[in-house]
Amino acid sequence: MDFFIQWNYHLQSLNSNKKITGNKVAITFDDGPHPEHTPKALSLLKKYNAKGTFFCIGKNIEKYPELFQEIIKEGHSVGNHTFSHSNAFGFFGTKKVVEELKRTNNLVKNLSGLQMVLYRPAFGVTNPSIARAVKELKFRSIGWNVRSLDTTFRNEKQILDRITSRTEKGAILLLHDTSEKSMAVLERLLVFLEERKLKSVTVHQLLQIKAYA
Ligand SMILES: [Zn+2]
Repeated sequence: MDFFIQWNYHLQSLNSNKKITGNKVAITFDDGPHPEHTPKALSLLKKYNAKGTFFCIGKNIEKYPELFQEIIKEGHSVGNHTFSHSNAFGFFGTKKVVEELKRTNNLVKNLSGLQMVLYRPAFGVTNPSIARAVKELKFRSIGWNVRSLDTTFRNEKQILDRITSRTEKGAILLLHDTSEKSMAVLERLLVFLEERKLKSVTVHQLLQIKAYA
């Protein structure tokens, strides 16, 4: 749990909404859009009548603008996940962080007319520079309380067990629409949610906040 304590020390992220009425959770996807896996995520969400939130990387939106627009068209919500997703993001000063977030927001504004206000920290990293940038742009930082670890060595079953043992109403789940393994997990997760009568909604619906300015 140290991870979350350190995170919140710099920047208050919204990680769940346990007080929500109704059996709702929010599945979130980081790092897309991805030409192969995002379409799969969209078709699975449609099949199970679920909504998700996609925290997209600007440079991927630039590469796959139509796919990005498809996400919105399907009724899901979108948020900012930096432009470069650089490994050095944690070392960027406030100005550079602001530039990254604005660049992605401008791109999205041009493509969709939407002014995003939800931010998902790249690598879950926050520090005073990032906190200042988020504040300056009047963004909301969105965390999670169920981390699937779907980008690690763990196999599908281990990932799914990890998720299902921690998922209860009000949870925000973190997945990535970047691998076949994650998409296999997503389908099993959607079946699990259906069995538990838990419905996936967009993260802004779960948190009862606005996704766009
Ligand atoms: Zn990421």
